[in-house]
Amino acid sequence: MNSILFATSEAYPLMKTGGLGDVAGSLPPALKALGCDVRVIMPAYRDAVARAGRLKRLLDLRVPTMDVTVSLLETTLPGTRAKIWLVDYPPAYDRPGNPYLGPDGHPWPDNGPRFALLARVVAAMALEQSRLAWRPQIVHCNDWQTGLVPALLALEPRPPATIFTVHNLAYQGMFPYETFLALRLPHSLWSSDGLEFHGHVSFIKGGLAYADHLTTVSPTYANEIQTPAFGYGLDGLLRHRAGDLTGILNGINDRVWNPGADPHLTSHYSWRRLEAKAENKRALQRECGLPHSADTPLIGLISRLVDQKGIDLVLAAMPRLLKMPLQFAVLGNGNRDYERALTRFAARHPDRLAVRIGYDETLAHRIEGGADMFLMPSRFEPCGLNQLYSLRYGTVPIVHRVGGLADTVIDADVAQLAAGKATGITFDDETPKALLSAVGRAVALFQEPAAWKRIVVTGMRQSFSWRTSAKHYLHLYGSLVPDADTTEAV
Ligand code: ADP
Repeated sequence: MNSILFATSEAYPLMKTGGLGDVAGSLPPALKALGCDVRVIMPAYRDAVARAGRLKRLLDLRVPTMDVTVSLLETTLPGTRAKIWLVDYPPAYDRPGNPYLGPDGHPWPDNGPRFALLARVVAAMALEQSRLAWRPQIVHCNDWQTGLVPALLALEPRPPATIFTVHNLAYQGMFPYETFLALRLPHSLWSSDGLEFHGHVSFIKGGLAYADHLTTVSPTYANEIQTPAFGYGLDGLLRHRAGDLTGILNGINDRVWNPGADPHLTSHYSWRRLEAKAENKRALQRECGLPHSADTPLIGLISRLVDQKGIDLVLAAMPRLLKMPLQFAVLGNGNRDYERALTRFAARHPDRLAVRIGYDETLAHRIEGGADMFLMPSRFEPCGLNQLYSLRYGTVPIVHRVGGLADTVIDADVAQLAAGKATGITFDDETPKALLSAVGRAVALFQEPAAWKRIVVTGMRQSFSWRTSAKHYLHLYGSLVPDADTTEAV
């Protein structure tokens, strides 16, 4: 049996700010279901402790070189059998809200020490330096917050195998050299082949340079991050490590995202009972204050409102989009300028565009259930989840053909339509013009009910299960630990 320590800074439903939270909440239970002995380890944020329910104090651990003692609190990820350890050290983690940002919206000033502490604890548990008689064969780390773990373990004589997964290369955990000194990190790690990046310490480089194997969350993103356009200056290192880099697509939680049983929907439906989707559209139009019209295509957009998501393209195209026979339901928050610009458009065109600023899981489900199409013009997208939810909900995705969007949405061009393989609309150029033309193509197809239904049904019948992704990870673990049991692997 593979024993895996899965290190993360968020895990749904205890803490989630984005795709990493979803992965950490779903992959470990899927691995457990395949027979792995997996423990998730994450900071004991205030809100995570509140959501966790009953916690058992597993042990206290004196953290090497940091002069502090932390406690490990054990529970299971709610609704699953996967164990999770919460690293309890109140001065670092007992804070409300977002795990990375303070109330002013800026990163906590002590993020370097906070996540260095997490890394030291993970490394200690990986090396069996606590009273617990448990040693993982694999330490699976995720994003910059756990990037120091592979670096620390690489200095040990017989470390477990390490995997580092990049969920988003744009966030790197960069701190001044003084932080490197203050953290008392081994000096041998300070080199351009190690943690140093243009005079700063880069936590993500700890993962990229030292892990035994690297993964990212889609095959296309794995290629893209090796190019200057997507590599943030790390593309050279990633090209160097190309032989150890694999793209494995994320799955979706198909119990939470199931149009056949979604408690947030007015009416349940499936590809066999598609008529019932229309009632969700009607309910969404009512909820958003849009006029009821079955024939007007309704486009949904749910997103963090940040540059990555191509919101500027949507805003630039909006005057022309509003001239098309369309309605929009937009949900998101983030950049204040984007929030204001969207709200202004909505105030001027309340019968065409409904905008809700905020984070609202219920409305997110209702938009997926009620909209006809889903717009996702991301500049880059490591995997993306909303296009996968959209496929499952028969809400045809219109996407910029990058990263995971390129790997999961098949464009309705003439050939794919004829072959019955099309699942959405894709566009290549990162311009408002290309976005407008893609939406125009979607609207034209919507007017052809037979062709449209075929696209919808083909999308709904795709499978993006965590079981499939977990089998790929299991296969990878097996290749790193020769005597591991991988009988369940692909
Ligand atoms: P990212 O991780 O870059 O934000 P993903 O598409 O991988 O993008 O995952 C985003 C997740 O967050 C999805 O589950 C999406 O539904 C959810 N989400 C994003 N913004 C909102 C919002 N304003 N309200 C509700 N859910 C949101």
